[in-house]
Amino acid sequence: MNSIKISLFAVDEAHCISSWGHDFRPAYTQLKSLKEQFPHVPLIALTATADKPTREDIATQLAIPNAKTFIASFDRPNLYLDVRSGQNRNKQILNFIARRGRQSGIIYCLSRKSTEKLAATLKSKGHEAEAYHAGLTAEERNTIQDNFLNDRTPIIVATIAFGMGIDKSNVRWVIHYNMPKNIEGYYQEIGRSGRDGLASHTILFYSFADVIMLRKFAEGTATEAYQLAKLERIQQFAEALSCRRKALLGYFGEHITEDCGNCDICKTPPKYFDGTLIAQKVCSAVARLQEQEALGMVLDVLRGSQNAQVYDKGYQNIKTFGAAKDISWRDLQQYIIQLLNQGVLQIYFHENGRLLLTPFAKKVLYEGKKVRLANVIQEVEKVKTEKTPRKRADLFEKLKTLRIKLAQEAGMPAYIVFSDAALEDMEYKKPRNREDFAEISGVGEAKLEKYADDFLKVINRHLDSTESDLPTHERSYKMFTADNLSPLEIAEQRGLSEDSVYGHFIKMHQLGSEFNFSEFITSEEIQQIKKAQKTLADPEALKPYFEYFEEKIPYWKIKLGLYL
Ligand code: ZN
Repeated sequence: MNSIKISLFAVDEAHCISSWGHDFRPAYTQLKSLKEQFPHVPLIALTATADKPTREDIATQLAIPNAKTFIASFDRPNLYLDVRSGQNRNKQILNFIARRGRQSGIIYCLSRKSTEKLAATLKSKGHEAEAYHAGLTAEERNTIQDNFLNDRTPIIVATIAFGMGIDKSNVRWVIHYNMPKNIEGYYQEIGRSGRDGLASHTILFYSFADVIMLRKFAEGTATEAYQLAKLERIQQFAEALSCRRKALLGYFGEHITEDCGNCDICKTPPKYFDGTLIAQKVCSAVARLQEQEALGMVLDVLRGSQNAQVYDKGYQNIKTFGAAKDISWRDLQQYIIQLLNQGVLQIYFHENGRLLLTPFAKKVLYEGKKVRLANVIQEVEKVKTEKTPRKRADLFEKLKTLRIKLAQEAGMPAYIVFSDAALEDMEYKKPRNREDFAEISGVGEAKLEKYADDFLKVINRHLDSTESDLPTHERSYKMFTADNLSPLEIAEQRGLSEDSVYGHFIKMHQLGSEFNFSEFITSEEIQQIKKAQKTLADPEALKPYFEYFEEKIPYWKIKLGLYL
């Protein structure tokens, strides 16, 4: 072997050599020996997707630590970047492709099964689409690929296996049906559209249910922590309130100062405010923590949290300790994520997720560079006005009642259980199962575990009762007997008076339903009312009784006493 003259080694898809890369292949690590065995043969490593730590690791792994690095811009300005909620994605996709004629497009799904299901749905609506995944024979795959390359089949619904090595210039759109595992994968896949430089559309459907699934995939693997951190980063990208392209390029270490004008955020921007002061505080804290700490600790320090981790490291003595204690934990976390997305800060996943300053941050700190932040609260408001139907259904009141009940049981304020925005989202989306519940804004894993069952019960009950269109007295009766709600709760949820609810119970009893009234009225009270009946001049009307008892016995009880 050593007798052959080799003029150059070229390692393609070089990100696969690094376990920090998104597609690590252990076999690639053996390439280390190239430089040892052939120290004088030039070596080039190529990759289209590698963040800074991965690039450094590639050089180390190939034993060329002092190699020259050439970085072409990651920017693909002709790709429109669109991130949408994963709710009703089939419908959204059908709407989207209805206006696309026979344009070529790829839809990426996470599982083989979903590629087949979605392809079938599209076909049933008259679109020419094929599913593509590793479960097909090589021959089937070749035919499908060939039909796509030659514009015979416009739409491919594929697992991520599709596209490696495909060079089709006129792919006009790429859709991520499921959340990608990381930004590298996302970038690589959207990059398969618009290679001819013409305008192309990319859509990522963001769903929390996908995040949970991807977390489960990562759990127990050798690179679990690292994969989870990358997943978190793409989640932050999907939730970004600033220009997507800025966030995407910033991730790869490329910092642009202007917004792109070609992403969903630039097209419909949130309300911004001058966040320079907040940005300066955050950057200053990161600097004082020697760029050694992750998001959680930076938050703790800025908010002046008096916890053991802070005290162990003596961080209570640094100058920025408590500098942002006027901002809530949640809002501040949102702002720091915005700073990451805007390329003011960066994160080293491979070093416990520590936050570092970028050159942009130094301009913010020392040159008075302005930073815009999107107002978190206003964003919630915006979501509210967009999504809430004008008419307030009584489901919202039921959800509020449950929230109060759970909060009281746990001895904490109601908004800690769920914000109004979260309840409104439930009212709007009406989730029937845990998967849909996970998509509600404000529902994380912990809240899903803790509250999903209780809230789903109320929502399902509500839907069942409104859908079955029961007569009003039967509805009250059902809520009392089947749903275990008190008359007061029923009255609140249905927007009725308590009197009406007891009236419903009496009617049901008259119609022959079982009802035990003894928990609402004592036999002594019944006797008092019966006694009054004998003395009052107009024993049919209720008001004289009410006055007779000096307003101490409510109307419903009088009615009940007279009935029994
Ligand atoms: Zn933009």
